[in-house]
Amino acid sequence: MASHENEDPGPDLTQGVGIADFGGRQMLRGHVGEEAVLLARIGDEVVAVGARCTHYSGPLELGIVVGETVRCPWHHACFSLRTGEALGAPAFDPVSCWKVERKGERIIVRERAAPASQPPPHAAGQPQDIVIIGGGAAGFACAEMLRRRGYQGRLVMLSEDEDAPCDRPNLSKDFLAGEAPDEWMPLRPDEFYAGNGIDLRLRTKVAAIDVAGRKVTTADGRAFPFDRLLIATGAQPVRLPIPGADQPHVFTLRSFADCRAIIARAKQAKSAVVLGSGFIGLETAAALRARGLAVHVVSLDARPLERVLGPELGDFIRSLHESHGVVFHMGASLGAIGADAVTLKDGSTLSADLVIIGVGVRPNTALAEAAGISTDHGILVDAGLETGTPGIFAAGDVARWREGTGGQTRRVEHWVVAERQGQVAAENMLGARKHFQDAPFFWSMHYDVAIRYVGHGESWDAIEIDGDPAARDCLVSYRKGGTVVAVAAIGRDAEALEYGRRLAAPA
Ligand SMILES: Cc1cc2nc3c(=O)[nH]c(=O)nc-3n(C[C@H](O)[C@H](O)[C@H](O)COP(=O)(O)OP(=O)(O)OC[C@H]3O[C@@H](n4cnc5c(N)ncnc54)[C@H](O)[C@@H]3O)c2cc1C
Repeated sequence: MASHENEDPGPDLTQGVGIADFGGRQMLRGHVGEEAVLLARIGDEVVAVGARCTHYSGPLELGIVVGETVRCPWHHACFSLRTGEALGAPAFDPVSCWKVERKGERIIVRERAAPASQPPPHAAGQPQDIVIIGGGAAGFACAEMLRRRGYQGRLVMLSEDEDAPCDRPNLSKDFLAGEAPDEWMPLRPDEFYAGNGIDLRLRTKVAAIDVAGRKVTTADGRAFPFDRLLIATGAQPVRLPIPGADQPHVFTLRSFADCRAIIARAKQAKSAVVLGSGFIGLETAAALRARGLAVHVVSLDARPLERVLGPELGDFIRSLHESHGVVFHMGASLGAIGADAVTLKDGSTLSADLVIIGVGVRPNTALAEAAGISTDHGILVDAGLETGTPGIFAAGDVARWREGTGGQTRRVEHWVVAERQGQVAAENMLGARKHFQDAPFFWSMHYDVAIRYVGHGESWDAIEIDGDPAARDCLVSYRKGGTVVAVAAIGRDAEALEYGRRLAAPA
């Protein structure tokens, strides 16, 4: 979470500001007493809401206004400027709303407005039983939205994890580095589930989906009936058949439990080898450096992250990690893992009393396949995230969705996409008929450098760099056939948001 302690609080809004104080911008941050309050212009009107994103306290004034919403520059949460509602994940809590008084040319804010009342739930036609398989990003966001939209029936969430839904991206960042307290990690405290009638069952593996019988059965033989089902089983790390990979000091990183096990080992370890130079491998390398371990990254690629970000950013990221002491062995792979060293395929050895394998993930489609639900490297769903079997939805890393009617299919592994898809699936289970149409977005942290990426850059034929990565100020555009298909931004958060707004498919 960000600290805003030394920040200029901006004008005292109880004393009022004029339109000229906006300096031509659409937003202005000031304060009312101790509280940071954002003024935003919607046409000639000025509205006021809390100025800090409720996800990680991002500064909303540095985001963008789209219609009657504001978007956070850090992780793209979206809030209603009218009601404060967190309309789009990764935030779930609303921002506060404030009363705006106009006295001549002055805009004055003194007190909070009453929270907006929720529309009454439509009890008629609601499903009676909803089951969610998966306690991750998509599963949690779906459950939360179902209750937020007034769903009153039974709601069961079955998760193989040991822990309630947690902030998975942090497992390779501050938490792994030992710089985030435990209380940051759960998406909601335990009481939330009981308090909202969400029957969350942890350590519960679903073994089968009975499509005709409309029920799921767990590995321990219990059955849960459903009218609507969400499959949000995510993905699992790829495990390579390397001799010695089954030893206790060799890990993959997906769950909170994996992360705790790595931390326990890292406390006694001196040197680590990370296999893989993708986002999770590199973030893990940075976190282990923060813990004082010697870290070697071994990768078959020529440059880290080159396939996603291109050679220039790949080189920048490599030099950034090298400046923090990470040693790269590119174009290399592991031949064997011993008790305290690894052997590379070229015969050289590296000391390692901790080994992390971070070579990508595979979507968990087995349940759907066995149930006869169509898959193609992901569970196939339409633009409303429903599978070919009515009432059965899929969202998150496991889902391959169709962009609009007749559009291309996509599957990505991004936190915000998974949560937003969970939210759209929830609304559609209640009859909303929404399409998932957000531009894919992810972020990644490397020491103090945040990279934000928007779009579909699976391939490109030209890269344009505006600015300088080394100065931590650049917008990198990936073009295919003359069209920008994706952007990556360092220090250009509002531009990345703006690109995402343009890319989002029309309603
Ligand atoms: C360490 C790490 C760091 C990441 N950092 C970022 C980042 O910085 N930015 C970003 O955009 N993305 C990041 N990601 C990716 C992001 O976390 C995923 O895209 C997101 O979690 C996908 O959500 P999901 O709900 O589809 O799957 P998950 O969050 O993985 O949840 C899947 C759930 O399904 C459960 N499950 C699976 N099979 C069964 C079964 N048979 N029965 C019962 N339960 C089952 C699992 O136990 C789990 O609870 C990161 C991922 C990891 C692992």
